[in-house]
Amino acid sequence: MSVALDWLIIGGGIHGVHIAARLLGDVGVSPDRLRIVDPGDRLLARWRTCTATTGMSHLRSPAVHHLDLDPWSLEDFADQWRSREREIFAPPYNRPALALFNEHCDKVVETFGLADLHIQDRATRCAVGCDGVNVQLSTGREIAAQNLVLAIGASEQPEWPDWAPRNHPRIRHVFEPKFDGWPSSNETVVVIGGGISAGQVALRLLDEGHLVHLVSRHALRQHQFDSDPGWLGPKFMESFSSERDFDRRRTLIIQARHKGSVPPDVRRALGRAIDEGQLLWHEDEVEKLDVRRDGLVVSLATHAELEAERVLLATGFASPRPGGRMVDSLVAWASLPCARCGYPIVDSALRWHPRVYVSGPLAELELGPASRNIAGARRAGDRLVDAAWAS
Ligand SMILES: Cc1cc2nc3c(=O)[nH]c(=O)nc-3n(C[C@H](O)[C@H](O)[C@H](O)COP(=O)(O)OP(=O)(O)OC[C@H]3O[C@@H](n4cnc5c(N)ncnc54)[C@H](O)[C@@H]3O)c2cc1C
Repeated sequence: MSVALDWLIIGGGIHGVHIAARLLGDVGVSPDRLRIVDPGDRLLARWRTCTATTGMSHLRSPAVHHLDLDPWSLEDFADQWRSREREIFAPPYNRPALALFNEHCDKVVETFGLADLHIQDRATRCAVGCDGVNVQLSTGREIAAQNLVLAIGASEQPEWPDWAPRNHPRIRHVFEPKFDGWPSSNETVVVIGGGISAGQVALRLLDEGHLVHLVSRHALRQHQFDSDPGWLGPKFMESFSSERDFDRRRTLIIQARHKGSVPPDVRRALGRAIDEGQLLWHEDEVEKLDVRRDGLVVSLATHAELEAERVLLATGFASPRPGGRMVDSLVAWASLPCARCGYPIVDSALRWHPRVYVSGPLAELELGPASRNIAGARRAGDRLVDAAWAS
C-alpha cells in the first residue's frame, strides 16, 4: 500500500473536479497529496457525453455557475471568445454556450494539473477507520487517504421504465454509459420523456432529418431553472436547514424540483415544431413495447400505436441513493446514518463520518434541491474548504 494521501475523491465529474480545485487552490493541499478516482478516460467524461448527446447549445444555469474558484472566472475567460463566436451567452441569465463552458472546464483542469491526479479506475470497496480510509480499486490497487470525498453523482443510473427491455440495440437510454444508440441514417424514432433532455434530443433528431414522436406523460411544463434560485440562498434554505425531520426535508426537495420541466427557449422550439407538424407530440403513457421482425411498436394508454425503428429513453436518472454496492457496504460496515429515503444524514461540513465527505445527490439532505447541480458543487466546495481549514 502507498503512503496515505490527504484527500481521495471518488468521482471525476463536475463535483469531483470542482472540489479538487477548491482543495488545491483555496486550502493549499499539495497536488501530490490528492487524487481523483474515476473510470472515465478523462475527467468530466460523463458530463461531456451526456451533454453532447442532448445536442444542447447552452447550459440551463447562469455563467457564475462553473468549476473555477473565482465566480467571475468564466465571464473573464469568455472575453477571449467574443471575437470568435456569436452567442456565447444566451439570455436570460447569461447562460454560457456548452462549448465555452467545456473549454473553461479544460482551463480549470489544466490550471490545477488535475489530469495528472486522475486515477482511471473504479472504487469497489471503502473501509473507514479513525485515522483514515482504505479504498480498493477494481484493478486490485489499494489507496489509503486521510479523507475521502464521495462525489459519485447519479449519471451511472439512468431511469429505465419497466416496459423497456434493456438489451435491445434499438431501445436505448440516452444517458446510459457507453450510449451508442444514435441513428446514423434517417429513421422514425420515438423519444420518451417530458423534460429538457427529452425535448433537446427530439429537436436534435428533427434537425438531423428523422421522423420524431415525443411521448410525455404530461403537458410541457415551463420553468427557467430546475428549482427556484431562492434555494441557493437563505430565502428557502433557512427553513430547510432548520427542519430536523429528514422525511420532511425529502418532501421539500421533491416539491422544489421542477422535474420534467423545460426552460422557455426549449419550450418555444418544441411548440413551434409541434405546431408546424414536424414533431409528433403525444401526451400519453406507454403501456407496452413490442419488438417485431420489421420494427418496434409502442402502444400508448389511449390505444394509439407508434411504429418506429428506434426508441430512445430520455427519462432522466433513477432516484435511489447512488453508489451501488460500494456505498451500501460502507453504510453497513461503518454504521453510517441514513434517512428513510436511503440518503446520507451528514453534518453541516458534509461529513458522513469524521473521514468521509459527500457532495452531489449524496449531500442533498443538507444542501437542498440544488445539490446535484453546478451550484451545488460550489456549495459543497464552500463547506469542504471551511471544514479543511477548521481541522
Ligand atoms: C444533459 C445534462 C445537462 C445538465 N445541465 C446542467 C446545467 O446547465 N446546469 C447545472 O447546474 N446542472 C446541469 N446538469 C446537472 C448536473 O450539474 C450534472 O448532472 C453534473 O454532471 C453532475 O455532476 P456529478 O459530478 O455529481 O456527477 P457525474 O457527472 O455523474 O460524475 C460522477 C462521476 O463519478 C464516477 N463514479 C461513480 N461511481 C464511481 C466509483 N465507484 N469509482 C469511481 N468513480 C465513480 C462516475 O463514473 C462519474 O464519472 C445537467 C445534467 C445533464 C445530464
